[in-house]
Amino acid sequence: MRPSGTDRAQGYTDTVIVGAGLVGAVTALYLAPRFGPVTLLEKRADPRGEPGGPGRSLVVMLSSRGWRALSDLGVADAVRRMCVPLYGRSAHLPDGRTRVTPYSRDGQPIWAVERRRLHHILLDAAEAAPGVRIRFGRRVRSVDLDEPAVVVEDGHSSHRITCRRILGCDGAHSAARAALEARGTRAEVRRLELAYQEIDVPAGRLDPTITHYWPSGNAMFAAHPLPSGKLSGSLFMRSDGPAPSYAAARSDHDLYEMFAAHFPELTGIIPDIAEQLAGKAVSTLTTVRCDRWVWRDTFALLGDSSHAMAPFMGHGMNCGFEDARVLVDCLDASADWEAGLAAYEKSRTEDADAISRLSYRHYFTMANPPREEAAAAVLRGRLTALFPDRFVPLYERCAFTGESYASILRDDQRLDRLVADLLARHGNELVSAPDNRLRACTPLTAPTTATSEDSACS
Ligand SMILES: Cc1cc2nc3c(=O)[nH]c(=O)nc-3n(C[C@H](O)[C@H](O)[C@H](O)COP(=O)(O)OP(=O)(O)OC[C@H]3O[C@@H](n4cnc5c(N)ncnc54)[C@H](O)[C@@H]3O)c2cc1C
Repeated sequence: MRPSGTDRAQGYTDTVIVGAGLVGAVTALYLAPRFGPVTLLEKRADPRGEPGGPGRSLVVMLSSRGWRALSDLGVADAVRRMCVPLYGRSAHLPDGRTRVTPYSRDGQPIWAVERRRLHHILLDAAEAAPGVRIRFGRRVRSVDLDEPAVVVEDGHSSHRITCRRILGCDGAHSAARAALEARGTRAEVRRLELAYQEIDVPAGRLDPTITHYWPSGNAMFAAHPLPSGKLSGSLFMRSDGPAPSYAAARSDHDLYEMFAAHFPELTGIIPDIAEQLAGKAVSTLTTVRCDRWVWRDTFALLGDSSHAMAPFMGHGMNCGFEDARVLVDCLDASADWEAGLAAYEKSRTEDADAISRLSYRHYFTMANPPREEAAAAVLRGRLTALFPDRFVPLYERCAFTGESYASILRDDQRLDRLVADLLARHGNELVSAPDNRLRACTPLTAPTTATSEDSACS
């Protein structure tokens, strides 16, 4: 299909946003009041007219970073009415015990919301906002960074829309990012070794105020309560390799047997698990790391297009919403767009790398049953309890503060070194030493972060 020429008749717009997903809609709402008209181009049909189809996770977790954006944009109350507060997570261990860990030490919850409902609220708000228009069924085929312009497929034809700037919010397989890659940007798009299936979990058997997860070595099942009382579950397993993996299941029966062997408790909780395993789509997980996010004064990437991450900390969307806020803050504080975009890139890339690393690493923390006897883990727990202002749990800092993810990761690494050093100097008996001895042995220089098996998936 050849472009049919520059189409100013389609409407010149200041800013084109490629992709009207969660981050595209939030970005439009932030941008239009400050920087003029915005057109969102979305390849799919308007989801508000469709029944909820299959797609990524039925439910997403909102933490403080996400709420900050929703409050800024005036939609927090509408979203909150659709949410379920979740106060912690319960590990259902293979030996039948459960271990509940609060999400925060002061009882703050994170919030589960159906992705579809959140998306609808954001699209409604964007459509109602002065200066924002959304065009569905418009696939952006390519981006011209110089003019700047986008080439859009629209049914059987294509046309070119010129504009002043373009923001790529088109997800992990971003067409917008391809324009940067053509100019030498290195982007790593990685399909993780893990795949997952969404599984419905009936109401009634599990506490609806917390997240539940079942660690099983190389596989993990997580279930998040929904407003209806039902739970949205996900089975995570390797795609390939020996059992447990999707490749090792040669038939529906094999898959069920594998599931039953690893998650016996769940076969009682989900009566139709065999049918669901046979019928539900298996999805893959993609991560993106990109060494440039902006181009001069005309182009920037936000959300998954620049930093798709593993879902285990529940931060991909929250981080994408934060991108949009930081972008407008940087533009507000800069003399021009070139400086603003450069400041945005500088401020976000290290943080996105950090939360991506934490999110991937977190799978292994969650999938492996906690080893309570591990000296390092116990010592971390004791340090956190003894010095609550110094050692703030990593999950809590990510979820309930707007602190830089990169500094949270650095503090975590510092704590690793401190624990290793304490054990090397004083031996494992320090783990059970009285509080006053542990206090005396612990050199405290700066506030830092505590992780442990306490910090499980959202
Ligand atoms: C299983 C799972 C669970 C998750 N749970 C959480 C969670 O609890 N909390 C959290 O914060 N995050 C979570 N995430 C991550 C979150 O889903 C993503 O970070 C978020 O959806 C990214 O939003 P986005 O708008 O950047 O990208 P997307 O949601 O991918 O949206 C991109 C949009 O662009 C459109 N598009 C793509 N290409 C084009 C094109 N060429 N032209 C026009 N339009 C185009 C797409 O149709 C889509 O509408 C989870 C992810 C997964 C997979």
